[in-house]
Amino acid sequence: MRIVLLGAPGSGKGTQAQRLVKKHGAPQVSSGDLLREAVARKTELGLQAKAAMDAGELVSDELVLALIRERLSRPDALNGFILDGFPRNIAQAQALEEMLQKLGQPIDGVVLMNVDPGVLLKRLTGRRTCSKTGQVLNIHFSPQEQLDACTRAGGELLQRADDNEDTIRNRLEVYAEQTKPLIEHYRGRGLLRVVEAEGEMGVVFERLERALL
Ligand code: AMP
Repeated sequence: MRIVLLGAPGSGKGTQAQRLVKKHGAPQVSSGDLLREAVARKTELGLQAKAAMDAGELVSDELVLALIRERLSRPDALNGFILDGFPRNIAQAQALEEMLQKLGQPIDGVVLMNVDPGVLLKRLTGRRTCSKTGQVLNIHFSPQEQLDACTRAGGELLQRADDNEDTIRNRLEVYAEQTKPLIEHYRGRGLLRVVEAEGEMGVVFERLERALL
């Protein structure tokens, strides 16, 4: 399984990637997670990436490609991976193609997680991550029981620094301008599958699994 999850911020790529990992074992390779990790560890790359991330802009291709190249070369990615949040523009897609061509491991498919733009804002403003389990929850949509379970276990419901309304608006604009062209890019290559990604997470996961068959 070598797939790309494509979709706007808040379309559920990360959540569904976690489910795919559990079921199929291929690692989730999230450029956003790799960048946040670098920022938290205050590496040189993290320090360079932080300003763009805080503003909701794309981090330079050079930095992101360095992270992805390193991640895909680790042993656990040799038998497949789920790319989440990468590529984000045409130049990154071309770089990925070249990278995988050299390894003789082309992408099997690209899944577009399709969500109405109106729904995205609510998903992003309500998004929280449990500090204990890493589980992604939503104060508007998750069952109260799940939210309570996190805090009861001693976890905190953390909000991402870039999940504030101004940055969210910018991230959605950046998606429309720079990432959306990838839909036609991959459709033209016969790789695109579209999943309606609104509704209950388990139902969306079933649609995703069917799209991947
Ligand atoms: P995400 O977690 O995918 O929403 O990404 C959070 C932030 O990390 C984005 O708003 C960008 O600033 C940065 N980022 C993540 N992936 C990429 C990428 N492939 N290219 C450039 N910037 C990225």
